[in-house]
Formats: sequence, structure tokens, C-alpha cells
Amino acid sequence: CSRINSRYARNILKRSLYDLIQSMQVQLSFDCPFHPERDLFRKQEELKDNAYQSSWTCSYCGKWFYRERFLDQHLDNRHSALLGTVMNATCLANYCDILGCDLAHVQDTTLAKGNDLWWKTALCRSTQMVELRDQCLQIAEQCTPKSSKASSGVRNIIISNICSRLTCKNYWNRSNVALVMKEAYILALRILSSIIIFLALL
Ligand SMILES: [Zn+2]
Repeated sequence: CSRINSRYARNILKRSLYDLIQSMQVQLSFDCPFHPERDLFRKQEELKDNAYQSSWTCSYCGKWFYRERFLDQHLDNRHSALLGTVMNATCLANYCDILGCDLAHVQDTTLAKGNDLWWKTALCRSTQMVELRDQCLQIAEQCTPKSSKASSGVRNIIISNICSRLTCKNYWNRSNVALVMKEAYILALRILSSIIIFLALL
């Protein structure tokens, strides 16, 4: 199970599901593969203390690292006993297609990846999206708490925030917006630096 992809998946779930159901004060059904208690890496990830950039501490044993990936290696080597031991622990990375981890990955990396994005959009297969959407709708049912008054709310959040994006038209949308925003930001920085150089030369 990929720790990095699980992290992308977890971050997407935080934004699109966990924060919202927390404000509604409801819990996901334990049948839900996205239930935080079932997350294979949850206990280990909670041990990470990222006080500031380039400072990653294992709060279990106090060891310090300047890169998150070195702390990841430390957790793999030293604290494997803390991996999820619950029955049916979930590898969130397995849900990356449904959650769109690729988008988050492209947003995280350089603008050059915009080409990859263009190709991914061009090569998107609508039949695959239909399959993913069906899986997503099944997950929405699994996640819906059986007895809570807010159960339809949970189902609706999953359908509108996750399943509804599973079309070729919508799948890459957010990252397009993010890339455009990144480009605009870089352009603004270039204009600003040109102005500063121009003023300095006066
Ligand atoms: Zn440690």
C-alpha cells in the first residue's frame, strides 16, 4: 500500500468529506472504506509533528528529520507495529482513481506536468468513468450511517463532492483551475520583479 498515495487520498477526503461531516456531527458507518479508524496509516501519520517547514519529528520517540520522506522511512522501519491493526484496515491509496489523487499530484508538482494533464484529459475513457462512478455510488451507500438522522446528508456529500466529478468533463477540472491560478501567480511575480528592476534602474 503506497503511503504517499494514501496521503493524497486522505487529504482529498479531509477537504471533501471529513471536515463536512464533522461540522454535521455525524460519523461514517464502519462499513465505509473511508472511515478514518480503518485507515492503515492513520496512527503513524498522527505521530508526525511538522512544527515548521523542514522540521519533521516522530512524536513517539522524539527523533527529528528535515524531510518528511525520512520520517516516513523511520516509521516504516521502527514503528511498523503502529500500522492499522483493526479488522478491515483500508489502504486509501486503492481509492485514488475515485478520489482523483492524480489531480493532487499534478498540483503538487511543476507546471511542466500540465502536458501530462492535457494528455490525461484527451485520453480519458468515459466507460472507465462510468465504472468508477458505479463503485463510488456503492461506497456512498456503505458509508451512510444506518440510524442517523443525517444519513442522507452523508450520502449527498459523497455523491456531490466525489462521485459527481467522475466524468471526463469534470475529472480534471479542479486541477485546470489550480494550474491556471499558478500560471497567473507566476506571471504576476514576473511583472512585479520587472517593475522592481525598472525602478532600481531609474
Ligand atoms: Zn519514532
